[in-house]
Amino acid sequence: MRMTRLHRPPLLIVFLTCCAIAVAVVVFVFKRDQVAVAAKDYDIVILQGRVIDPESKLDAVRNIGISAGKIQTITTKALNGRATFDAKGLVVAPGFIDLHEHGQIPENYRAQAMDGVTSSFELEVGTADVDRWYAEREGKAAVNFGVSIGHIPTRMVVMDDRGEWLPSGPAATRQATGAEIEELKRRIERGLNRGAVAVGFGPAYTPAASHWEIQEMFRVAAGNNAPCHAHLREAREPAISALGEVIAAAAITGAPLHVVHVNSTGTQWTPRLLQIIGEARSRGLDVTTECYPYTAGMTRIESALFDEGFQQRLGVDYKDLQWPETGERLTPETFARYRKQGGGVIIFSNTDEMVRVAVTSPLTMIASDGIAYQNGKGHPRAAGTYSRILAQYVRKEKSLSLMDAIKKMSLMPAERLERRAPVMKNKGRIKAGADADIVVFDAERVTDKATYERPAEYSEGFKYVLINGVAVVRDGKLQEGFTPGRALRAPIK
Ligand SMILES: [Zn+2]
Repeated sequence: MRMTRLHRPPLLIVFLTCCAIAVAVVVFVFKRDQVAVAAKDYDIVILQGRVIDPESKLDAVRNIGISAGKIQTITTKALNGRATFDAKGLVVAPGFIDLHEHGQIPENYRAQAMDGVTSSFELEVGTADVDRWYAEREGKAAVNFGVSIGHIPTRMVVMDDRGEWLPSGPAATRQATGAEIEELKRRIERGLNRGAVAVGFGPAYTPAASHWEIQEMFRVAAGNNAPCHAHLREAREPAISALGEVIAAAAITGAPLHVVHVNSTGTQWTPRLLQIIGEARSRGLDVTTECYPYTAGMTRIESALFDEGFQQRLGVDYKDLQWPETGERLTPETFARYRKQGGGVIIFSNTDEMVRVAVTSPLTMIASDGIAYQNGKGHPRAAGTYSRILAQYVRKEKSLSLMDAIKKMSLMPAERLERRAPVMKNKGRIKAGADADIVVFDAERVTDKATYERPAEYSEGFKYVLINGVAVVRDGKLQEGFTPGRALRAPIK
């Protein structure tokens, strides 16, 4: 039957009916999703912890909801999750970020996770082959990992120095030719193109590298917005001129500068080095620094650091050197023997007072300078640095506030790298959208256990350590076989 004009619905009514149906559908779907979220909740919830975030300055009891490896919410409201971590009476903070750790092997990563470290970087020495370095660790690391393109190892490749890890031949002793400097620049540029997060330097280990050579490498770094992580050329009083060398290079080229372990390089001159760094910053230079909380350092005995005259340069004698394998203090005879053999040696060269000056300075970040264990022997800083800060300086001495300590161990290192490596903008913070790299610890109990005699002892007091939303430490115990650590790289060109 043919519809009359009256029976045909007017266009406007059809349109309004469609709109009403559309709105109803949207409301239904929205409500259903809300119900779904409430029922599904989060992968993990951390409940009733004292959340400390150095970026927002939050220090209050909150619940945290985590899904898909990221922090989704921080709230006073009740939350449900598939896994519930009770943090009542405990501190919840961003995971610690170590910018200076040489022991980039599974054994060190596990010890670091037990010490609250969620991201571990080798930036001072670095590597000569960025792609290979990352590939070797992919899918095998308990913590996140990253590396610099290193001037030291690159110089070893270019000059065919067969030293183990650090130079013991031409890379330490020979001036580079113009062609070699060009080759070094090309390789540093290539490493940065492959996502290295910084450029590493150690003129103390490459004393034959000229000021010009160091500056040329800084120029490459500056062109890539890469911070230069430098172990100064000399220690003691001359450290002031050695600091001047790299500050000048930064000022001339525009490269950001990060001075590694200001305390172990500076010894009794540490306050002056810190003053100079502060003054350079006040002139607008991007200069930062770090320290570790131990009076002894450790490095290779066959390196250039122990060339003739080391006693004057380092302010130590044979008796201040300890061989980790045996625990013995060295004599001229044993020093000569071990230098020929090669290996790591512990150097007692600093005082508690100078370490305290460095640790409590607002300029310093905390970085371990840990070294890979050799048969469980080494330096306690690899396993104990971060809990030692919390136990010694925050709890016992009260020379550092908990908020400042956490800032030095998480936010400051993230900020150091984030202009070059934007992945770091989601680390070092407790905020919605940040990576779920989180530590939960008992501020009254947390303590380092590693000693010079037993350097691989795990720290105590961390109840949970989450890395990308995976609990590598749970109820204070390391979860063996968990490897949620991811590569932290600058954008690859
Ligand atoms: Zn180092």
